[in-house]
Amino acid sequence: MVTHSSKWTIATLGSHSALQILKGAQDEGFKTLAICKKGTEKVYKQFGVADKIITVNDYMDLLKIQDKLIKDNVIIIPHASFIAYMGPSNVEKLKIPYFGTKKILEHESDRNKEKKWLEGAGCVMPLIFDKPEDIDRPVIVKFHGAGGGKGYFLARDTADFKVKIKRHSGKKYTIQEYILGVHMYAHYFHSPLTGETEILGFDKRYESNVDSIGRISARDQMALPEEKVDPSYVIVGNIPVVVRESYLPRFLEMGEDVVTVSKKIAGRGLYGPFCLECVITPEGEIYVFEISARIVAGTNPYIHGSPYSWLRYDEPMSTGRRIAREINNALKDDKLKEVLE
Ligand code: AMP
Ligand code: AMP
Repeated sequence: MVTHSSKWTIATLGSHSALQILKGAQDEGFKTLAICKKGTEKVYKQFGVADKIITVNDYMDLLKIQDKLIKDNVIIIPHASFIAYMGPSNVEKLKIPYFGTKKILEHESDRNKEKKWLEGAGCVMPLIFDKPEDIDRPVIVKFHGAGGGKGYFLARDTADFKVKIKRHSGKKYTIQEYILGVHMYAHYFHSPLTGETEILGFDKRYESNVDSIGRISARDQMALPEEKVDPSYVIVGNIPVVVRESYLPRFLEMGEDVVTVSKKIAGRGLYGPFCLECVITPEGEIYVFEISARIVAGTNPYIHGSPYSWLRYDEPMSTGRRIAREINNALKDDKLKEVLE
């Protein structure tokens, strides 16, 4: 049987959550394409998720081959590595059909706009200190465009900040209140077709070396050189979590409100997968310190579905497959324009 989906190819860059995106697309009857950097193709071959692989020397080569891809009915699914390698301005220029609202990128990457958006949606966010002299509590210092938490550091007060920032001269940074609590990354999917926001799962991150410092005693930590024990937040993996059930109503409300506000600030607003990056304190306060306006790699443990997607769908439903399902539903209802840019 020729399905609508079989005329289309779903493509993404070979990294981050590509395995899941491509597998989900195959399960929904699409052809799949992995655009791989030389040397990384093997993985996509071995797992059998890519019907076709295009090898490039640089991910930016996508701009050179996009006319051919458009002719071949290719739809691009963005993920964090895709945005990191292409850069938001190039992504905005892409002509290939793209799943997501490009205009939302500026509200995500500009911390002031992000704050206005999330606080406008009722999310509680950590304080931002405009000047180091204003620091009056423990803070986390984040560098702009820092790849996956690289180089972030903690500072106790202004003096501590001034010592530690010396190792990072010339870099742009944000000083954010450090929230002591457990991290919870909430995965959502907003369907522009049904208008519903779904919870698809939760994860926590595995970060080096902040997740390893606690494995040695304070005595041994004190014996190490300072730069070794300063926590760093380089992401190396993701761990599945289920959240205390009584927190679910608040999480759902947060996701819905973030979508509602996005429609006022960025065209048709946020749709598809997104993630609210949260810290939950012992008082049960949920702080949101970041939003990812696309699929997050924390959904990767759920290739066969999460406990939440299982409740809802009763069939394997990863976030990658949920994206392909949305495109499929749009094709069936002749509403493809509503889900692509
Ligand atoms: P990579 O393709 O793994 O080199 O990652 C490129 C960028 O994508 C990283 O610098 C991160 O910003 C982001 N990224 C990749 N994997 C993850 C992950 N598991 N969690 C969060 N961000 C990620
Ligand atoms: P980000 O690049 O903003 O996703 O942050 C990387 C990591 O830094 C997170 O996964 C957390 O472990 C940590 N982090 C970021 N912001 C905060 C905060 N305000 N309070 C506590 N931990 C944070």
